[in-house]
Amino acid sequence: MVSEDELANMSPEQLQELQKQNCIFCHIISGKVASKKIYEDDKVLAILDINPANPGHILLLIKEHYQIMPQIPDDEISHIFMVAKAISHACLKALKAQGTNIFIANGMIAGQKAPHFMLHIIPRANVDEIKIFDLPEKDIPDDMSEQINAGLTNKINELFGIKTEEPIIFDKKPEKIGSKAEKGIDENKKLQKKEELVKEVNKKRINKKKTNKEENISIDLDKISNFIIENEPKK
Ligand SMILES: [Zn+2]
Repeated sequence: MVSEDELANMSPEQLQELQKQNCIFCHIISGKVASKKIYEDDKVLAILDINPANPGHILLLIKEHYQIMPQIPDDEISHIFMVAKAISHACLKALKAQGTNIFIANGMIAGQKAPHFMLHIIPRANVDEIKIFDLPEKDIPDDMSEQINAGLTNKINELFGIKTEEPIIFDKKPEKIGSKAEKGIDENKKLQKKEELVKEVNKKRINKKKTNKEENISIDLDKISNFIIENEPKK
């Protein structure tokens, strides 16, 4: 056992090491704890969950002990999603699943139970009574949505190193979540404002001087939404 004093004096590296020593998933990865392995390579291990939501519920683990997603290097996070795609496909073909849910509990508040990053893949059937998408539908005021829109876009651009002329800032204080959107304001005007904002952000993104790296990650929201609309299944 480690005393509280010892804990308080530990470096982040020592704490990480201690967490690793006490991590059941690290023990599964090292083979100290038995598991039903579905797939393994140098970066990831996929096992059957011992408390499955459905038969074939799979835990896809990154072998290195990372707690949350921001700690994971790009090559490892890319790899885990590539493997998830194959496992999901295998669920459809080998288990005759009608669909799969793929989810990550990123942080305790989001339902993460163990401090080891993993991805859940759950085969779904018509009548399995799992209600993952039983989500509330909140009424978010438009100005708050616009603030969210701008805040996220600015941050993502920053993370990808995309230079925009200037970040978009909204001064107006947003209303509380749940309150009804202001009455008497022309809805079309608000919608137009939002569309202009998205266009403005995209224009800045497209107009920027492109390096090879930026070209690879350039995202055209208009193109994506047009694609989705054009490819919507006919009712
Ligand atoms: Zn671990």
